[in-house]
Amino acid sequence: MKVIINKSILELVDGDITKEETEAIVNAANSGLRGGGGVDGAIHRVGGPQIMEECRKIGGCPTGDAVITTGGKLKAKYVIHAVGPVYHGGNRGEPELLASAYQNSLRRASENVINSISFPSLSTGAYGYPIDAAARIALKSVIEYLKEHEEIRLVRFVLFGADAYRAYEAALPT
Ligand code: ADP
Repeated sequence: MKVIINKSILELVDGDITKEETEAIVNAANSGLRGGGGVDGAIHRVGGPQIMEECRKIGGCPTGDAVITTGGKLKAKYVIHAVGPVYHGGNRGEPELLASAYQNSLRRASENVINSISFPSLSTGAYGYPIDAAARIALKSVIEYLKEHEEIRLVRFVLFGADAYRAYEAALPT
């Protein structure tokens, strides 16, 4: 589904983010930028070793922040590596850190004149963030950013499977 926020499009789709053709895709990275399973493993597998080489040079990224590399062999020109929080029950700053991972990813996009970007559902796999709560934070963070930054024309949430898609659909403010 698709909604218009100010001058931009916000879209939810069920799919595999490694196939996206937006200018940038976001990776659910860890703070060592060392690669891993889940969406991170898939992005490095499809994008090839160049992305990891760039990650090694950058060295790391604090939780709640995001760094940018090229997209290697991906269709997307850039990968923005965002580090969401590990969920420890919700009282250790997780909501703020998750919001900040989305906001900083969008900032990296604006700084690099990227006007279309795809996100996975950060922190909701191995990092254990409950998807309903994570979806509300993700959508709110992106919507707030789009209201102030019309240079980002398209944001896609590429959700892996029908359950994730439904959780985001239900969390979309009407
Ligand atoms: P985290 O460590 O931040 O929790 P994960 O990669 O384990 O990151 O999971 C984040 C989300 O990404 C999960 O909802 C998972 O289902 C989803 N995911 C896994 N592979 C892909 C993919 N190829 N495209 C989009 N989303 C994916």
